[in-house]
Amino acid sequence: MSQAKDLYELLSASRDATEDEIKKAFRQQARKFHPDNKETGNEELFKEINQAYEILSDPEKRAIYDQYGLGGLRSTFGNSEVFDFGDLSDLFSQFFGGATRTRRSTGPERGADIRYELEISFLEAVKGCTTQITIQPLEDCGLCKGTGAKPGSQLKTCKTCNGIGEVKRVSESFFGHVTQITTCPSCNGVGKMVEQPCTECNGKGQKRTKKPVDVKVPCGVDDGARLRWGGKGEAGRQGGPPGDLYVIINVKEDETFSRNGQDIIIQQKVSFSQAALGGNIKVPSVDGEKTLMIPSGAQTGAVLKIPGLGIPKINNMARRGDQLIEIIIETPTKLSPEEKKIFEQLASLQDEKGKKKYGFFN
Ligand SMILES: [Zn+2]
Ligand SMILES: [Zn+2]
Repeated sequence: MSQAKDLYELLSASRDATEDEIKKAFRQQARKFHPDNKETGNEELFKEINQAYEILSDPEKRAIYDQYGLGGLRSTFGNSEVFDFGDLSDLFSQFFGGATRTRRSTGPERGADIRYELEISFLEAVKGCTTQITIQPLEDCGLCKGTGAKPGSQLKTCKTCNGIGEVKRVSESFFGHVTQITTCPSCNGVGKMVEQPCTECNGKGQKRTKKPVDVKVPCGVDDGARLRWGGKGEAGRQGGPPGDLYVIINVKEDETFSRNGQDIIIQQKVSFSQAALGGNIKVPSVDGEKTLMIPSGAQTGAVLKIPGLGIPKINNMARRGDQLIEIIIETPTKLSPEEKKIFEQLASLQDEKGKKKYGFFN
């Protein structure tokens, strides 16, 4: 919008107009300058009128505009929020009850993206893996080379739209006659039709095919990671580029390992005597069993660490987090007569200690 234009002038409204008067003025102006109005239509002006109304119909924006002008609005809301109307077709739908101007491009069209969910194990996520998936992209029909026409038959001009690819339809609306321009339903906007459809693809020009794709999952991926293969999606139309393939990673839960950032966490049960005396035990890791030194007097909930055995950075096995081992001390439930004897001896020793320390205990 040009800086010089006054929003009230655009709407032909006075500065002290009420909300209702602003609305009325806007409708008059919008009708007058609507691009489908043959005499006075003006697309640029129509946009500006809509923008002016967007501001003046909002009491907060209007107050700022009255006091500080457009500059004030920009510094308050940011330029995009003040003037962001997106596509002009949004305006049409906004003010003309869904009567949008839609027209499909008749030129090359990019193929759609394909989304594939791949479930992998925790170990595969840590180390990376290579697997083959089968996708079913739309590809140009081999027989008709994507034209949809039976080989040897001709393309003819679409009768519905006379080759233009779009059709006009006049309808009644709040603003009077509104001409809608839409993609020709007969030829889908191409302007040409197939005289005899291809027998292989029924004239569609494209077919779904099964296609194996080798997928290399890099080491260190997390659940929900999205890997992209450019150009491996659906084939484009009319010579347009293909879409992309997105592989979404689902990491299965593991019974032993869990992930926290770059660290791998396990819970390790340790016997009562191991915890009291300390010593070396074997613990699982994604690199196989490792020896872990339990310090004497370890408590339940203590967290020990094996550095460098965690999750690698994506695609970089050399930079890894740590493995954290949470110690859970197992209290024995079934004791052999011999164990029972030893525990009883231990208990009486502890009793002695308790009496000395606190002066009472049992
Ligand atoms: Zn075909
Ligand atoms: Zn047509």
